[in-house]
Amino acid sequence: MRTGRLAPTPSGHLHLGNALAFGAAWISVRNPSRGHDAGGRLLLRIEDLDRGRAREDIAESQRADLRWLGIEWDEEVTPQSQRSYTLEGLDTYQCGCSRATRLSWGCRCRFLPAGARVNGGGWRFRTPEGDVHIEDRARGGLELPPGDDPILMRANGEAAYPLAVVVDDARDGVTEVVRGADLLDATAVQVRLHEALSLPIPEYLHVPLILGKDGRKLSKSHGSTELRALRAAGWTAEQIWAMLLPLIGASPPFASARIDLLRVHRGPVTLPF
Ligand SMILES: [Zn+2]
Repeated sequence: MRTGRLAPTPSGHLHLGNALAFGAAWISVRNPSRGHDAGGRLLLRIEDLDRGRAREDIAESQRADLRWLGIEWDEEVTPQSQRSYTLEGLDTYQCGCSRATRLSWGCRCRFLPAGARVNGGGWRFRTPEGDVHIEDRARGGLELPPGDDPILMRANGEAAYPLAVVVDDARDGVTEVVRGADLLDATAVQVRLHEALSLPIPEYLHVPLILGKDGRKLSKSHGSTELRALRAAGWTAEQIWAMLLPLIGASPPFASARIDLLRVHRGPVTLPF
């Protein structure tokens, strides 16, 4: 069955960029574009691996924001903090080098023989060389560099996001991933991980990244773009969808909106406020 997912990270309140990505995920399953069957299911999976920053009260506020927007899910699956992960089947190496060291000096850990003693640190994926081919439903085929070898497991044995998201999408039977274009680079390495683990690769759709009026990625410093702040300022969900839906070639009302893959904006969009 076609299966999409909403996968919020409960370390910050949802903002307009999240609303667009989760709204597009909902529409894609509920009101599929041409060539896709109706009758899919949508899962909610809380991505709370970062135990230091994830908070249940924020997760609850995110669920409330989603419902306020009209985004309902069929089932909430086990949050990532309650799942277990293994490196079995993956070509990894241990590396305790800092990001700065890796960028300026390079890291030799990658080339040490398996099992060699190193300076501790987490376990990285030895990403195969060469560009990664990904298929995006709106952008078509893309060739992307795989980027730096990601940490898959921290030194303390906790799984990191790139491993968890790939394993969980397969475990949860996710067939389509809809998210912001800021994750295109992450998609490249995740496709490599799906391949390494012989797991099916979901369909991808990347929706435009929304920037604050200062031209930067939305973060906690853009509190006025948080949904709860907009709601408190008197915005309605209808007004939010009237602003966001054209970015994916859709028209209000949200409940019957359909994504026009040919009209999904490619570049980032800067908010006027
Ligand atoms: Zn290293």
